Amino acid sequence: MRILKFGGTSVGSAEAFARVAGIVARAKEEDGNVVVVTSAMSGVTDTLINAAKAAAAGDETPYRDARNELLVKHQIVAGQLIEDGVERAALGRLLDEKLREFERLCQSIYVLGELTPRGLDVVSSLGEQMAAPLLAAVLRHHGVDAEAVDAREIIVTDDTFGAANPILEETCPRVEQHLRSLLEAGKVPVVTGFIAATRDGITTTLGRGGSDYSAAILGACLGADEVQIWTDVNGILTADPRIVPNARTLPELSYVEAAELAYFGAKVLHPKTILPAIERNIPIRVLNTFDPDGPNTRIVKEPAPVRTPVKAITAIRNLALITVEGRGMMGVPGIAARTFSAVARTGVSVLMISQASSEQSICFVIPAKDVPRVVESLNEELERELRRGFIDHIWSLDDIVIIAVVGQAMRGTPGIAARVFGALGEASINVIAIAQGSSEVNISLVVATTQADEAVRRIHDAFELHRVEELWAPAMAEA
Ligand code: ADP
Ligand code: ASP
Ligand code: MG
Repeated sequence: MRILKFGGTSVGSAEAFARVAGIVARAKEEDGNVVVVTSAMSGVTDTLINAAKAAAAGDETPYRDARNELLVKHQIVAGQLIEDGVERAALGRLLDEKLREFERLCQSIYVLGELTPRGLDVVSSLGEQMAAPLLAAVLRHHGVDAEAVDAREIIVTDDTFGAANPILEETCPRVEQHLRSLLEAGKVPVVTGFIAATRDGITTTLGRGGSDYSAAILGACLGADEVQIWTDVNGILTADPRIVPNARTLPELSYVEAAELAYFGAKVLHPKTILPAIERNIPIRVLNTFDPDGPNTRIVKEPAPVRTPVKAITAIRNLALITVEGRGMMGVPGIAARTFSAVARTGVSVLMISQASSEQSICFVIPAKDVPRVVESLNEELERELRRGFIDHIWSLDDIVIIAVVGQAMRGTPGIAARVFGALGEASINVIAIAQGSSEVNISLVVATTQADEAVRRIHDAFELHRVEELWAPAMAEA
């Protein structure tokens, strides 16, 4: 059994839908059991969210415009790809119903002048609710017996709106029951990605880009042979192709490497996607909808050894480096613990902690948008130390980027850090902070936003990652 997940651009136009239909039909031929997961059409989730935010801020125009824009966007696909009048009319009614709901929701948000995370999840879930029935209808038109499934019926999460956590013990029996009977009837379920519901049926979302995670959850529950993430690039590349033009497809990655890359900004995969796959040891493959037979990436437990210690470079943006500094901190026990509990109380997650050689400062990286709350919480917690002068100041350095250099074979290969810093030194790129994960799968460093792209390119060059064919020739051939 295979799970095929299609991202926003893969369902971004009538032409893309037609390609998806071809891919699904082929998969169904090769392997009778196929489950499809779809994202909203590209740009739709952004439009929904922006309209709801504008409504909360007192502007009705964006949601009124969005309603028509979204109707047309979906209807163009239906118009071009579905000939059956009855199907088209049914779809038209469904789109109309969802968009009315959107308008009603935005009206109340406008009246209340407030948008809660819970409300935002309801609004942003509508894109997938329109895309799945549309894709199912397109598939039927292409001779694939497909049926749309609303994931809110089968994926159960907690109520962390905007980044809900699935409860597998409750999800899997539902998935098994609902999808298995469709599969047994020879159908292809087309499940909405990204969205889910609490035990009480309240709509949640898994976080932006969360359809990948949906696919992995379903794959784990059903014990799929492979979870396929179909996107707009040839798999996971040695770096973001928008930054490094000569980036190449990575043939194989381990779960840990893929997780590190996703966590540190490789948008191609939602960071939590790997978790359910590891649990059930299910391979994930990342492929290009627009080049289905082209190079792709397989993510497995134990990839074959390769001739390069470093596999890929990523960058994560919009961050700030917080420093708690003071000569009086030296030897005072508990400051680090209190610093991090103060951060933890804000609910903000720390992306990286830098190792300072002295005890005079503690530095860590957080998302830039969270700086005010975190600094406020630190000032409260450390108020006494600040007053007594044990801590001189707490400050934030904005406009920074974490660059992560990832590869499992870095462990035990000497000289990696020297090569990284040498490459950056030559380009006069200033490294503001560094950290090496305890896993040694990753070296992360902080640079200024203005130097980030150049830093990624320099490190990519230093390890000659564009020579992926040679680097990946099985290490055995070397002997
Ligand atoms: P989808 O809509 O299919 O989920 P996304 O936009 O979420 O697609 O992810 C695909 C994009 O991720 C690519 O178009 C690419 O620009 C970006 N990306 C960032 N880093 C990488 C990388 N290392 N390899 C491949 N793509 C990457
Ligand atoms: N449509 C959602 C988003 O834009 C989920 C996804 O694309 O995976 O974030
Ligand atoms: Mg995505």
